[in-house]
Amino acid sequence: MNIRPKILIVDDYINNIIAIEGLLADLDVELIRAMSGRQAIEMTDQHEFALILMDVQMPGMDGFETVENIRKDPKNAMLPIIYITAIYNENYYRTKGIKTGAVDFIAKPIITDLFIGKVTIFINLYRQRKRLELEILSRAETEKELEKAKNIAEGAAMAKQQFLSTMSHEIRTPLNAIINTANLLREEDPRPDQLDNIEILQFSADNLMRLINDILDYSKIDSGKITFETVDFELRKLLNGIRQSFEYQAIKKGIDLITDISDAVPAVITGDSVRLSQIMINLVGNALKFTEHGKVTMEVSVIADFPDETGLRFSVIDTGIGIAEDKQQYIFESFTQASSSTTRKYGGTGLGLAITKKLIGLQGGSLELKSAPEEGSTFSFNLNFCKSKKTHIEEEMLKRTAFRSLKGLMVLVVEDNLVNQKIVSKFLAKWEASVDIAENGKVAVQKIQETKYDVVLMDLHMPEMNGYDASMFVRTLDGYYFKNLPIIALTASAFLEDRDKIYTCGMSGYIIKPFNPTELYWKISPFLK
Ligand code: ADP
Repeated sequence: MNIRPKILIVDDYINNIIAIEGLLADLDVELIRAMSGRQAIEMTDQHEFALILMDVQMPGMDGFETVENIRKDPKNAMLPIIYITAIYNENYYRTKGIKTGAVDFIAKPIITDLFIGKVTIFINLYRQRKRLELEILSRAETEKELEKAKNIAEGAAMAKQQFLSTMSHEIRTPLNAIINTANLLREEDPRPDQLDNIEILQFSADNLMRLINDILDYSKIDSGKITFETVDFELRKLLNGIRQSFEYQAIKKGIDLITDISDAVPAVITGDSVRLSQIMINLVGNALKFTEHGKVTMEVSVIADFPDETGLRFSVIDTGIGIAEDKQQYIFESFTQASSSTTRKYGGTGLGLAITKKLIGLQGGSLELKSAPEEGSTFSFNLNFCKSKKTHIEEEMLKRTAFRSLKGLMVLVVEDNLVNQKIVSKFLAKWEASVDIAENGKVAVQKIQETKYDVVLMDLHMPEMNGYDASMFVRTLDGYYFKNLPIIALTASAFLEDRDKIYTCGMSGYIIKPFNPTELYWKISPFLK
């Protein structure tokens, strides 16, 4: 950009001005004249100058006084001014000149080269300053634009999160009802042909639930709203449980499903077992899905051993279709599959690996892949766990075998959804427990004060008063009963991050919806006196 600086020439004698104009004719500048101090001040009001060339001796207002007046305007505080005078050698003039902020004196008669040289320096400085000013201005504007874009993006991300969470909640509620009704139908001795239909219903509803949970989970992980739990668990039991749950699928395809856990792996470790299950289920599910012959192996080995910690390497190895090298980097992205025919043939959403990778990454590991088409794939990751002092974990649920009657158990079901109320009540009635219903937290608080219950099943999201507030309220009431009444939260799995909140609000545990009837039974049966 061409910036044409302006120079003000102040002299009461026109011939002097013309002479200076002649000297500066070759510079790319605009020259402006003033023939008195007053005129000079007027010009500085109208223009922005790169430099003023000021005659000192003028009738009326002399050069020094003129400069003092020009400096009064803050915009001229730093304006370079050169005095042109025949008498600059006298001390009085020099001091006065410096006090008014002159940058230089030029003696008359003017030495042409020196004069042009000095003026050029100031012109160049001015040009540079202007360029910097423009640069700063344009940066400030870019910054403003960026800030605007950032705000819009943040707003959109929040709206998306809100939308997903509302939508999935809305979908999940009727879906819970479908799954639970299917569970109920199954319990009512259906004919074999009816059982087939119930299984289809259950399978489809489960898949739909998984999809909704995946989407919600992914967006939660994506926005960083996820915490990891630390609990003691037996890794061998966890992996065997996963193997068992896939066994039927593996046998149907004629594939061996194997766990190969090194003896060096500690029996009980501490970490987030739920998230580890989620990771392994995703990887094993994929391995089985994309393998037609051979085997799928879950392998665990110790790669680091410290007094309190153990570093484990997990691998899921299959002998399936494999993934071409050029596709390998893409499959970890959300909603991406190795080929467009994958969805048609194998189903899926392309979210599993994206979630798995993030879950591993957030715990300090990284998901690696080795694969070749037709030879199979190996997904591996390393994670550290604390060693637990325990050697095994008691599992109440596994020790007991049959349902016994829950006759005499007083249960309060706090739930706003009519269908859910009905389903929970039906199961409880089947086990012969006594059931009372409260349609929101407020009613629940009232009922808890009127009747002695053995256990409360508390939905969390309800109108009037939610489950958290109701539980907190009960805990503030005086008396052993109110402080110790077991309150079990009913929560959707995607809201598992609320686990901490469940405990801080005084609840004693949670059951994930759609609830597994067996889990519900074992969680409430200990409270039968
Ligand atoms: P999807 O729900 O489609 O399985 P994922 O994110 O879990 O989503 O997987 C993305 C894609 O990666 C799959 O569609 C498939 O093309 C490929 N893929 C994942 N695991 C395997 C595997 N073990 N063998 C072959 N291809 C796989």
